[in-house]
Amino acid sequence: MLIEIEKKSQTYQFEANAGEKLLYAGLRAGIPLPFECATGTCGSCKARVTQGEVDEGWSEAPGKERFKVVKREILMCQCSAQSDCSLSVPTKIVAFRDDDINPDHHIGVITQYEKLTEDVLRFNVEIPTNISFHAGQFFVLQAPEVNGFRAYSMVNYSPGTNQLEFIIKQNPHGGLSKWIFDSDRTQEKLELFGPLGHATFHPDESHDLFMIAGGSGIAGLMSILEYGRQVNYFKNRKASLFFGVRTPADFFFAERLRAVKAQFPDTVSINIAFSNAPPTAEQLSGNDGLIYLQGMVHEHALPAVLEGGGNVMHYLAGPGPMVDALIRPLILKSKIPVHRVRYDKFS
Ligand SMILES: Cc1cc2nc3c(=O)[nH]c(=O)nc-3n(C[C@H](O)[C@H](O)[C@H](O)COP(=O)(O)OP(=O)(O)OC[C@H]3O[C@@H](n4cnc5c(N)ncnc54)[C@H](O)[C@@H]3O)c2cc1C
Repeated sequence: MLIEIEKKSQTYQFEANAGEKLLYAGLRAGIPLPFECATGTCGSCKARVTQGEVDEGWSEAPGKERFKVVKREILMCQCSAQSDCSLSVPTKIVAFRDDDINPDHHIGVITQYEKLTEDVLRFNVEIPTNISFHAGQFFVLQAPEVNGFRAYSMVNYSPGTNQLEFIIKQNPHGGLSKWIFDSDRTQEKLELFGPLGHATFHPDESHDLFMIAGGSGIAGLMSILEYGRQVNYFKNRKASLFFGVRTPADFFFAERLRAVKAQFPDTVSINIAFSNAPPTAEQLSGNDGLIYLQGMVHEHALPAVLEGGGNVMHYLAGPGPMVDALIRPLILKSKIPVHRVRYDKFS
């Protein structure tokens, strides 16, 4: 099917396969369409159908709650074309970085499966070809018998790899969460599409990094730390990480974080905030180089933000309410320019 997208004086054309989500087809063709979650919740990939027929897919998608049916407003991440179509996109279409990688469809196999805590799983997916992705990006995954794609950020980083490492926080009522936590899924196949996302780290931008993660929000930030470690970025640049979990028993990736701190003791600071319990006596001894705190992660992180932002890129990742609680004070109170804040809301 031929899809034409119009935005003011610009027109883009691309082919979409039968059943393929319009957003994925457009991104695959290198068109910089607007999106955030790419899975039906945020509403950023809104478009209006001006000609042709579409299958709207997930009818209860929260992202289209306020859309006007009479105006044929749709979510491009949920719709597929049933004929050639013309769409208009209200949001600004912004070109990506020159070195961005066009996302694509893959079939992957789960090769590693490990429980990190009571409710956090780590798993690896092997895909048939080597790909590149930016540190901080995500893929959308679809499990057998579970309708729809879900977004998960890569934990690992490698300039070319067929291994994607993910973590997933258990959501007792979640379809994919239930599927993956129910039993060891090693050797199960998944559909994937990616890489996606703009909360990315690029050493050539030469910023210091200020990163705040809640729970599984640490995933993409681990990828950023890993890339920085590989290219010795923190030899000359600072990184501060604030990572919030509920209790010491919920803290994972301790070894990996200690290794980054040990490699760059003077430039990297890693702060772990427990919201529901105090740190252990051993943690408070400071022997492992990490700083342990009690309280909500944003309450500890915000006072450490440099007013005006300086030459710092800010990364926020985790539950939507945590990210929302940070964006306003960062921009309005600490006067951080909008382009110095990159975030992923885990909705
Ligand atoms: C950019 C980004 C990165 C993320 N990275 C991580 C991560 O690294 N680790 C982590 O634990 N969480 C991550 N999340 C959050 C994670 O995507 C959600 O927690 C996850 O979607 C919950 O899925 P579920 O199956 O457990 O819950 P459910 O409630 O079953 O599903 C929630 C989501 O699945 C999709 N969905 C549900 N039903 C349908 C349907 N019928 N048709 C189509 N789609 C449907 C929608 O996207 C919906 O919001 C990330 C989110 C975003 C936006």
